Amino acid sequence: MIELTCLCENKFSADIRTEYDTDASPGIVNDILSGRFMSVSCPSCGKLLKPEFPTHITSKKNNWDIQFVPELERVSFLKNLPTGKKGNKRIVIGYPELLEKIKIFSDRLNDQVVEYLKYNIMSKLLEKSDENETENDINVYYNERKEDALLFHIQGLKSGEVGLFKVPMGAYEQAVQEIDTKINSEPFNEFLTPPYVSLNRLFTWDDV
Ligand SMILES: [Zn+2]
Repeated sequence: MIELTCLCENKFSADIRTEYDTDASPGIVNDILSGRFMSVSCPSCGKLLKPEFPTHITSKKNNWDIQFVPELERVSFLKNLPTGKKGNKRIVIGYPELLEKIKIFSDRLNDQVVEYLKYNIMSKLLEKSDENETENDINVYYNERKEDALLFHIQGLKSGEVGLFKVPMGAYEQAVQEIDTKINSEPFNEFLTPPYVSLNRLFTWDDV
């Protein structure tokens, strides 16, 4: 049980677990995808609260081992980031990263390859955009696999708009071939090394 305080000042305790086994409760995956995961309604005013707490999400069947770190703990967490780990353990920081990782894994994709593709997309976008216009942060998120392409969402190109970027499956397959030669060299080793496999690592480095 976790103590929460609503904006209406009502204090209540909510049953937020710290361990989730998606084999035992497959509904968790849909809850994460729909945004219901970790959300709680205030029993007094009914407002939907979305508190973030450290949680561990696993699936033996799918070989998932995801440690969720709240967004508010990003900077302190990155200061003591464990690195150089092999295997399937993954860290995600904040809900958007969790959502994206679950989409990537549910679509049976390799997250290192997806982050590598995101780097290439980001490089193209930064090349094209005027230096003066890149004041707002550009973010690339994997969204879905559609027919023979992977669709990425681009945030921050124009305020309030989400751009689309399409990568053909052929380019993904090619990246699968390339990744082993890239993964140990800069800058790829800085964001593809487990357990925290995320392009965000490269772009938040300066803030740490
Ligand atoms: Zn309330």
